[in-house]
Amino acid sequence: MLSNSLVELDRQHLIHPVAPYRAHEARGVTVISSGEGAYVRDAAGNQLLDGFAGLWCVNAGYGQLTIIEAINRQLQELQYATGYFHFGAETPIRLAARLAELAPGDLNRVYFTLGGSDAIDSTIRFIRYYFNALGKPEKKQFITLEQGYHGSSSTGSGLTALPLFHAGFDVPLAWQHRIPSPYPYRNPVGSDGPTIIAASLEALKSKVAELGGPEKVAAFYCEPIQGSGGVIVPPDGWVRAMRDLCAELGILFVADEVITGFGRTGPIFACEEEGIVPDMMTMAKGLTSGYLPMGAVMMRESIYSVIADASARSGMAVGHGFTYSGHPVSAAAGLAAIALYTEGGLMEQGRRSGETLIAGLKALEDHPLVGEARGRGMLAALEIVSNKDTKAKFDPSVKVGEKLFETAYANGLIVRAFGDGTLGFAPPLCCSQDDIALLLERTRKTLDDLLAVSEIRKAAA
Ligand code: PMP
Repeated sequence: MLSNSLVELDRQHLIHPVAPYRAHEARGVTVISSGEGAYVRDAAGNQLLDGFAGLWCVNAGYGQLTIIEAINRQLQELQYATGYFHFGAETPIRLAARLAELAPGDLNRVYFTLGGSDAIDSTIRFIRYYFNALGKPEKKQFITLEQGYHGSSSTGSGLTALPLFHAGFDVPLAWQHRIPSPYPYRNPVGSDGPTIIAASLEALKSKVAELGGPEKVAAFYCEPIQGSGGVIVPPDGWVRAMRDLCAELGILFVADEVITGFGRTGPIFACEEEGIVPDMMTMAKGLTSGYLPMGAVMMRESIYSVIADASARSGMAVGHGFTYSGHPVSAAAGLAAIALYTEGGLMEQGRRSGETLIAGLKALEDHPLVGEARGRGMLAALEIVSNKDTKAKFDPSVKVGEKLFETAYANGLIVRAFGDGTLGFAPPLCCSQDDIALLLERTRKTLDDLLAVSEIRKAAA
């Protein structure tokens, strides 16, 4: 009854993020009502293994008392403090210092946002300000990767390459450009790592040349592993090679760690794996384990200095600010979540469970519908194909993604099913070996159930 009335209220009033509005009205909302560890319960009483940690964010799992208590303590003490002008509060200051400790190299300066999209937008503003301050106002072109996702704000959605986020929105694409992503399974140059790296380096060099040379280009952005594009894992050495090329060309390298941060791929930040120091880094999601909204931009000391000195010379403040930047309650959640990842052993647990997850998904490559299993740590995907030899995808009319999602759900598993049928996995790091075994069992059952659907069997034949 409660759930029925919620479905009706939702249908009438709530506009959902990234939803097909009319189809959603027809289907009705799936209400999630509680969570514990790696599991959630829906309003109908079903218990589901959350193989996607909400939206790749509940890294610590649900119901973590230390985070909840930290939030409660902060709420008792101080519910809000602005960071504007010369104000501040203890938790955002401590969180900034902790992030500076954890981030590589001299990424020492932190600007807090409410999530990933405004973190990306903030990098664009800071980078423009930086090059203007350096007397290089021509350096204003931005380059990203095809299949990249960098949020859906009015500006930053141009850095996102997925067409869904452009259609109908008049995105400012004139200064936002793309090069092919290092997609080993479907790269026209084949799957050999060094060949893919060489092709990406060449693509970036020629894109920069096409835009008028490094004096016109501000920055190159990438996710160390592309998330929403389908969990695309570049070959080892790719991130480092691209970072080095950016340094050589004199363009900034921005690592978008919104998904890959906070233990998702193993280390606290995925950049660590390649031993690089990006010029700027964005983060969100796992920062608070999704318990409260918060994101951040980190920048190198040298970039901060240029911005700070230019502002001092101008006699004006740096005019970039959000009311909720560095919210003390979100920051308390962030400190507690990070304590769980590090001293609390969750990163270590995620690493162990991640090995089992990747090995188990690799074993599913024997399934007729699985073209490739890939991933690192607790971030993984199965690419679903209708023909393993030709790597052909299912025709969009089959709606294989939707069918996969609904079938997995019926089997007690929440996964992300991308439109083309790629299945994304990002379970909470707190998953035990038994949880991962269950996830794998339910995934195989989902694939078998799907193959039993005559429409799918025929299309896959
Ligand atoms: N960057 C990346 C890599 C992301 O995956 C996302 C969100 N999935 C964003 C930016 C945008 O973050 P948000 O949804 O918090 O605005």
